[in-house]
Amino acid sequence: MAKYTPMIEQYLAIKAEVQDAFLFFRLGDFYEMFFDDAVQAARELEITLTGREGGMEERIPMCGVPYHSAENYVARLVEKGYKVAICEQVEDPSEAKGVVRREVVRIVTPGTVMDARSLSEANNYIAAVVLSGEAYGLAACDISTGELYVTRLDGSFELLLDELNVYSPSEILGSPALLEQIRSGSAAWLRSAVMTPRDGRKANEGLPAEGHFSDSQLAGLPEGGRETLSLLMGYLQETQKRSLSHIKQIRVYEPTQYMVMDPFSRRNLELVETVRDRSKKGSLLWLLDKTVTAMGGRLLRRWIEKPLMNATHIAERLEAVDRLYHQLIVRDELRTSLKEVYDLERLTARIAYGSASARDLVALMRSLQQVPLLQQLCESSGSATLAKLAARIDPCQDLMASIADAIVDEPPVSVRDGGMIRAGFNARLDQLREASANGKQWLAELEKQERERTGIKSLKIGYNKVFGYFIEVTKSNLGSLEEGRYERKQTLANAERFVTPELKEKEALILEAEEGMVDLEHKLFVELRDRLGAHISRLQTLAELIATADVYQSLAHVSAANRFTKPEVGDFYELQVEEGRHPVVEAVLEDSVFIANETELSREAGSMLLITGPNMAGKSTYMRQVAIICLMAQIGCFVPAKRAKVPLIDRIFTRIGAADDLIGGQSTFMVEMMDIQIMTEKATSRSLVIIDELGRGTSTGEGMAIAQAVIEYLHDRIGCKTLVSTHFHELAHLEESLRDLRNYCMAVKESGQQVTFLRRLIRGAASTSYGIYCAQIAGLPEGIIDRSYELLHAFEARAEWQQGRQETAAASTASRQASAENALQAGEIATASEPERISEPGIEYGSAPSSN
Ligand code: ADP
Repeated sequence: MAKYTPMIEQYLAIKAEVQDAFLFFRLGDFYEMFFDDAVQAARELEITLTGREGGMEERIPMCGVPYHSAENYVARLVEKGYKVAICEQVEDPSEAKGVVRREVVRIVTPGTVMDARSLSEANNYIAAVVLSGEAYGLAACDISTGELYVTRLDGSFELLLDELNVYSPSEILGSPALLEQIRSGSAAWLRSAVMTPRDGRKANEGLPAEGHFSDSQLAGLPEGGRETLSLLMGYLQETQKRSLSHIKQIRVYEPTQYMVMDPFSRRNLELVETVRDRSKKGSLLWLLDKTVTAMGGRLLRRWIEKPLMNATHIAERLEAVDRLYHQLIVRDELRTSLKEVYDLERLTARIAYGSASARDLVALMRSLQQVPLLQQLCESSGSATLAKLAARIDPCQDLMASIADAIVDEPPVSVRDGGMIRAGFNARLDQLREASANGKQWLAELEKQERERTGIKSLKIGYNKVFGYFIEVTKSNLGSLEEGRYERKQTLANAERFVTPELKEKEALILEAEEGMVDLEHKLFVELRDRLGAHISRLQTLAELIATADVYQSLAHVSAANRFTKPEVGDFYELQVEEGRHPVVEAVLEDSVFIANETELSREAGSMLLITGPNMAGKSTYMRQVAIICLMAQIGCFVPAKRAKVPLIDRIFTRIGAADDLIGGQSTFMVEMMDIQIMTEKATSRSLVIIDELGRGTSTGEGMAIAQAVIEYLHDRIGCKTLVSTHFHELAHLEESLRDLRNYCMAVKESGQQVTFLRRLIRGAASTSYGIYCAQIAGLPEGIIDRSYELLHAFEARAEWQQGRQETAAASTASRQASAENALQAGEIATASEPERISEPGIEYGSAPSSN
């Protein structure tokens, strides 16, 4: 019976262990793929599919990539969301009995990329989620920087999605059921993560976290944290197959330490990317990011994603920003110095991981050279916060010196070819180098002597890997060679290559010296890298402090450049903004000036604004601006306003347009209602709620009814600060019955046929939407425009009538406390009124227009 060859048997055995990954099977100078892997990889990588005899009748599909360029191919597959297992020969083929032993040495997955080429400057997280009792445990780790966060999310699944969204992990580990729930419950941006099903319990048996972290670290974990961390560390150890000593610090946090935002709100406010094309440009991060270092950029993003809830910490941040805002010279010097600092977090991670090159060490050294100056600048800034930061800096100058002593200024990329270690660093290396240099010198002498002896001017001494050193003579000159002295080695088309006994003897010495040199350099380099590896914690702390200083200078720089002012932040209720602006809209306005607006949300002035006004008037810009000002204040940044008093907001809910956020198959309206449900459940009096065009997406009557009921509920039951924009000017009457609600509108100037948007928020309700006016400007046929105006007048007449009816209904309700039930009631009223509407005079639905 036919059988596979032993090598293919070996392949199949290894493949069985890594079924969800492409197996890169090392065969000499290539990584080969077989069977289905080969077929799929050939397609994905656009490489040629061939075949190979494998012992069976049919040839086995095969494709391969050269080992020296494999990283590019691995990166491409991982970028497409695949995993790649790298399988190496782990014994010398010349010493192997039978098939060479092979082992998977590493599995590269989207969440565990270490190769600099595949990573952007942004974080690349892998997350592990576990349902433990009533709560979810979440661990998120970036192995390229060593950051590790652990938290526990009580109760709702939405909270877990919110938190996952903050990390936007490229890979998520969890039980199959939980992953499925995440996949179906989250919008597109989370669904693009690679889901790796792992059984939590199995990982728990070995508790990989226990081997990696200290007892006191593990004791600090929240309930369920150990399980989550074990799931994560188990997977990392299994795929990386090395110590991962740079994943040292566990940052445990409570979700309540930060402002909470759901994924929709984050997206709507365009914190780190725009809604339209998911680009950073046009987002708040884009505006605020004048960080100079890669780690500063990552930290700023984290600050924006996680605004603080602690007034003291916010005040500390604001103090640093304030000082740097006014200390232009210090700020500029900080920026200049930071420009010389490389990505310390990633460099440190590569040192621990064992993948740092000599160039990486030089980059580390150059970065460390800046530290004393950075420290001094922080001290001299006059900021207490920065002085405290400076006091925590360990400049690591001993590490800098140990690199400077050992490594040349411009080492080569490879760590295998020598040329990295400085002269004078190691006596043995110097000896070998001298021997090699002498040998080269001797060869040059020999070439000269041989030319003289033979009289052949073109005679030369060369080297190749197979034959070593040789004397090369062209065919036409062969006659001039002394008989018996030269031993023929290789014949070329028009030359012969020879060796002599003395050349052979010297060759052995030269090659030995060179090989010894390269080996010794590598050994010295690895020793140095390992020595540095023992100081990972020091370097990581330093990286964090430098990143923080970088974020402060960035916030100060942007605040100064954009005329932001220092907000007063505290634990009070009222929100007051004098001449507030939307920082990003202002920054991108090209040929007009941004119109500043006032905001006051308080018990006295009203905590709820009902904003009416036409499309394009600036309603949603205004509402977003209020949210962004609060958020900026809570990250410790100055705000775009003349003066601002900002309370600690525990949560921002926004419901603004949803077109691109649709969860598969659900209508915009359904999504809106689901969001509003969560909002009514989760909002507190310290929350800020923003709803744009509440109630659109269903019939006018129902929409208006729901809008009113929601407004009443938020007003009566929650007391949060609320901004609602609506098309329904009919809702303006609510101002009379709701104590904390105020009508506002965006001012518009009409002159003849012209309508000008003034972008100014004023008291009162708008009387019209100018929607038909917009349609007219857009060039709709006159017939449609005329007919629209005609219908509009009829609708308005009906609305007045209906309002009268509602007021009567409201008056007859003794108490307006039961707002939840109100939603239902209002809905019923609206539905019940539908048939009557049709019977009203002057309105014809769906029939031919009256004019011809
Ligand atoms: P609405 O929500 O009322 O339809 P938007 O808030 O979307 O209107 O604003 C429409 C456009 O008007 C924005 O894209 C922006 O360019 C401009 N705009 C809005 N507010 C202002 C302002 N305060 N000053 C200047 N331009 C503004």
